[in-house]
This record gives sequence, structure tokens and C-alpha cells, in this order.
Amino acid sequence: MAQVRYPLPTKLSAGAVCYWCPECPAVTASPTCNHPQQQRYQAPRQQIVIFCGCGRTTTPPYCDGRSHQQLA
Ligand SMILES: [Zn+2]
Repeated sequence: MAQVRYPLPTKLSAGAVCYWCPECPAVTASPTCNHPQQQRYQAPRQQIVIFCGCGRTTTPPYCDGRSHQQLA
């Protein structure tokens, strides 16, 4: 999978569940990989979540706003 170097804003409705993985950065509606780092996220309310797209964030699963800028 191509490396994504930018955040992934994702609109979620209240109670929606999605999965994020730092190894194969993507946000999906179902678990698609077996990496132990994969994280399940459930939106407590309707919101737009800024998921990390580069996998280097220090605040997973959220983009920390700077780690992706350090990628060459
Ligand atoms: Zn994975």
C-alpha cells in the first residue's frame, strides 16, 4: 500500500465504528489486517476525526499535526 503522508479526516456518525492501523495507514469500517497495533475507534457522537495517515503519529489514532511533515 502506498504510504500516505497527510491526515485522513473522516466523518463519522454517532456510534460508528472504524479501524485504524499504523502499519498499513488507512481507516476502514471493518478490521482488514492482523497487525496488533490496529486500533478500533468508536465515535461517541457525530464528528469528524482527523486520523493519522502516515502511521508515525505520537497520538494514535489521531494525527498529531507534525509527524507526517518529517517524512522525506
Ligand atoms: Zn495493519
